[in-house]
Amino acid sequence: MSRFLSRKFAGVEPYVPGEQPRGGSFLKLNTNENPYPPSPRVLNALSRGEAEKLHLYSDPAAAGLVGAIAARFGLAPENVFVGNGSDEVLAFSFLAFGGDAPFLCPALSYGFYPVFARLLGARYEAVPLREDFSLDAEAFVGCGKNVVIANPNAPTGLAVSRQTVRRIARSNPDRVVVIDEAYVDFGGESAVPLVPECDNLLVVQTFSKSRALAGMRIGFALGNPALIADLNTMKFSFNPYNLDRLALLAGQAAIADEEYLADCTRRICATRAKTAAALRALGFAVTDSKANFLFVRPRGISGPALFAALRARGVLVRRWDDPEISDWLRVTIGSEDEMARFVAVTGEILQEAAR
Ligand SMILES: *Cc1c(COP(=O)(O)O)cnc(C)c1O
Repeated sequence: MSRFLSRKFAGVEPYVPGEQPRGGSFLKLNTNENPYPPSPRVLNALSRGEAEKLHLYSDPAAAGLVGAIAARFGLAPENVFVGNGSDEVLAFSFLAFGGDAPFLCPALSYGFYPVFARLLGARYEAVPLREDFSLDAEAFVGCGKNVVIANPNAPTGLAVSRQTVRRIARSNPDRVVVIDEAYVDFGGESAVPLVPECDNLLVVQTFSKSRALAGMRIGFALGNPALIADLNTMKFSFNPYNLDRLALLAGQAAIADEEYLADCTRRICATRAKTAAALRALGFAVTDSKANFLFVRPRGISGPALFAALRARGVLVRRWDDPEISDWLRVTIGSEDEMARFVAVTGEILQEAAR
């Protein structure tokens, strides 16, 4: 910290992203990236001719991408906000709506929420999950606070129904309810159909996971036009050209390829089921994940020991030190081959530990 940093930021603890190794050959199952490349339509959209236009600014209204997303979800362009990754959309949400009431979040969830709150001047309160990691929905019903819930949740993978989201949104009519659907395409029930009836609901999604564009940084929010206008006030007061020209084109191409999305997510869900069965056969506890990762607790070895042994063999997964989950690992679903290798390496480690 320099002696110049604003005093109000002295206690900020930044979010720590999963490791992104540069060299070496790692099996990377630690940041929930899609194992498959983006849609071929995306690759075609990123032509040399488009790159040559990079001397020009991108469209600050992002009209092409906003229109394509609106059409995809049966909403109007006024219902759509796009950001530089859903992280930026979430940040603008904390910035815009966190001034008057705290944000209530599940205690075990996306680690960025408390960081955004701290940085952007919003208060943050956490509700513990139940023993089985399920959401204590009643704590959010009629809470009178803003709400942020990841659905499906990370790192647990557990999802709540649209009906539960509706109850939370309808019972807090004077607060904003943000549903972070980063993983919804892998088996969750989306809250998007509630947007027309709940003017306090913001549904946030990303192109990073199911649409295989983590490196392009595209996220969006769907909500009432007044909420979307507020997010645009934040954006135009901060970074009007928040998506670059190539990202806008890639996003439009990706949203148009429904078939590719369905195919990719179907494959990942099939691999998830197979991997879960293999790990259960090895004695693991495995939650009922509706995301592109599994949340698992090994038997016969501690979580930290398995994490270290995997890493020593070039396999990266994610774990946290929070006491309730210190023995659990979050494992991204890769390709069939990658997961077969993961299961084989894990089996070897367990055998060695048993000796
Ligand atoms: C990955 C993730 C995001 C952020 O994704 P972006 O790449 O910024 O779009 C947001 N929320 C959750 C819960 C995530 O796991």
